[in-house]
Amino acid sequence: MRKQYSKEEILAFAKDNDVRFVRLQFTDLLGVIKNVEIPVDELPKALDNKIMFDGSSIEGFVRIEESDMYLVPDLSTWLIFPWTEGQGKVARLICDVYLPGGEPFPGDPRGVLKRVLNEARQMGFDSFNVGPEPEFFLFKLDSNGRPTPEVNDEGGYFDWAPLDLGGNCRREIVVTLEEMGFEIEASHHEVAPGQHEIDFKYADAVEAADNIATFRLVVKTIARKHGLHATFMPKPVYGINGSGMHCHMSLFKGGKNAFYDENDELGLSETARQFLAGILEHAPAFTAICNPLVNSYKRLVPGYEAPCYVAWSAKNRSPLVRVPAARGLSTRIEVRSPDPSGNPYLAIAAMLAAGLDGIRRELPLVPPTNRNIYIMSDEEKETAGIRSLPENLGKALEELAKDEVIVSALGEHVYTHFVEAKTIEWNMFRTQVTEWEREQYINNY
Ligand code: GLU
Ligand code: MG
Repeated sequence: MRKQYSKEEILAFAKDNDVRFVRLQFTDLLGVIKNVEIPVDELPKALDNKIMFDGSSIEGFVRIEESDMYLVPDLSTWLIFPWTEGQGKVARLICDVYLPGGEPFPGDPRGVLKRVLNEARQMGFDSFNVGPEPEFFLFKLDSNGRPTPEVNDEGGYFDWAPLDLGGNCRREIVVTLEEMGFEIEASHHEVAPGQHEIDFKYADAVEAADNIATFRLVVKTIARKHGLHATFMPKPVYGINGSGMHCHMSLFKGGKNAFYDENDELGLSETARQFLAGILEHAPAFTAICNPLVNSYKRLVPGYEAPCYVAWSAKNRSPLVRVPAARGLSTRIEVRSPDPSGNPYLAIAAMLAAGLDGIRRELPLVPPTNRNIYIMSDEEKETAGIRSLPENLGKALEELAKDEVIVSALGEHVYTHFVEAKTIEWNMFRTQVTEWEREQYINNY
């Protein structure tokens, strides 16, 4: 839980620590961090919610004629960056975006998550805990500082130095995150060369999404210091594992884990089963949100530990949802399809809305699939009722359009702008002529 600072405390922190600039941070529709930087003299004004910006220049926000917006800082997100930038220390506050009339701006992703979380509260849950496992690659830079396709090591899963040359960089990332208040649970080399994973402690949904956004910023900043480029692109290299961001999740009620039932064989309560059934029901639709890039779908293919089928299991890791062996307070489900390129606020909001719908409708849970789905025949999959995740961004957008629960969780504004941006992206990709096609066809036809 983050500490709720008062305005006076923040002003005192800024003064005592010689902070020169404060970044008022929020994310655009696609999850890119945006900020308005103010000199520290303006901090009192910012804390009174008086900083305005022009929303028309932000992806997925608004048109010119209705562009004035206000930033309302969340005082629990106050943080001084451990590194200095140019002239001195820089702090940040994550903000909610409001309209001049005082209502929350419906296109603010953080606001979307808060709205869905509020529904969970109305259903009696006090928190929705999310523990993400983001993976990323480190690539070498060329002499112009541009990322090359060359990874910086030949390491593999859990490898030790000297094979794991990214180890020093990863360690500095971990130390920096800890200085910023993150509780790091594990950090290790992942399966592919140049690939890493850092897991941090679960938090309530909004804090978890803030953490993911901050995490991506820190990883990229520290990698640069080591002369490397960090990327959260889901599948940067053909033929090796891509980067996922598995999300562990549980709902709490009255301080107790509402997903736990000591009498159940897997430790799962009825609530957990219904939530999981909701996740399975809406997975094809929330894929567009949790896997929003054309490239995301190059990861969701058989053979690379990423899911491609809508199923669950307590035993193996190929399905979409795994139920880890933990019991009691740490009972949870692990959704394995999201990747780290998504807007964390929207991704968590969409998955929460899916799960809550399962609870509301008391959806029955299909039996687990404990076999390796990758080697099941199409008939076997059909008999077991196992659907596939959408195989490209175009299909994912079609699935999203069909799902009223996820569409209404996003709200009209976010849904329309998201689909507009993603349809352009998909059509541009669809009509490209690639190197692969030229190699395959130019001589034979
Ligand atoms: N990199 C794999 C993925 O794309 C996951 C590997 C693992 O942590 O099990 O989801
Ligand atoms: Mg992993």
